[in-house]
Amino acid sequence: MGLLEGKKALIFGVANERSIAWAIAKALHTEGAQCAFTYATERLKERVERLAHSQGSDIVLPCDVTKDEEVEATFSTIKERWQSLDILIHSVAFAKKEELKGKLLDTTREGFGLAMDVSVYSLIALTRQASPLMREDGSIMTLTYLGSQKVVPNYNVMGVAKAGLEAAVRYLAEDMGPQGVRVNAISAGPVKTLAAMGISGFGEILKRVEEKAPLRRNISQEDVAGVALFLASPLSTGVTGEIIYVDAGYNIMGP
Ligand code: NAP
Repeated sequence: MGLLEGKKALIFGVANERSIAWAIAKALHTEGAQCAFTYATERLKERVERLAHSQGSDIVLPCDVTKDEEVEATFSTIKERWQSLDILIHSVAFAKKEELKGKLLDTTREGFGLAMDVSVYSLIALTRQASPLMREDGSIMTLTYLGSQKVVPNYNVMGVAKAGLEAAVRYLAEDMGPQGVRVNAISAGPVKTLAAMGISGFGEILKRVEEKAPLRRNISQEDVAGVALFLASPLSTGVTGEIIYVDAGYNIMGP
């Protein structure tokens, strides 16, 4: 019997086969969880539906996380179909391409607001909507990056957003703890995905990790999915409010 037999997982952030969220969905499904998916724009609908069907899931809902009505509609469908929820995966972030190069100094008010809305506020909004549906021992998780703690060239406004996201994880862990629901973040090393390709000089970041990380390699989506499975499962019932690094050890290194 799988670790997640009988569990229901709602997954935000599958754009394609390379998405971290898709690797997580596959790992959860392999251990017996049923998964439901959302997509941000019509453009992604077919692709996400195809991926969902490949694991027998027929719940695929439109949800731009900046739109309250879409977020509400998503959870109301989940309530109708499933009545409850065990796992929420938040694997969503966005900043304008022109603000992922150059200097943080040049970030516009609008670009700052957009990055914070999509990448940080959405975790709060989704957790609030999920709260009445989450069963005891439920698990919520999000994806973050080292650029929240250290200066990574070009990461700029997204580094500020990820710092906010990590703080939100701690506050939400405190809010959700009394009902037995855990909130954690995985700080993933760089992985070649659609979102990562928007970061200027991303190839350099990958190269640096391979040279400097204790494991002397980059990580894969599957490395992240393994830890996501741990966080979703009863193996981690005592873990909440944590930022867990899955980066081949890169973050521990000095200059
Ligand atoms: P990805 O496949 O491009 O996934 C990002 C997802 O966010 C996409 O599905 C994207 O949809 C979605 N999204 C953007 N704006 C949205 C909105 N308004 N409403 C709903 N969804 C929206 O890239 P990924 O690398 O797997 O990213 C997943 C998470 O991992 C992000 O939080 C990212 O910051 C984090 N992370 C990534 C890395 C890395 O190196 N790849 C490292 C550490 C952390 P669209 O394609 O339609 O915009």
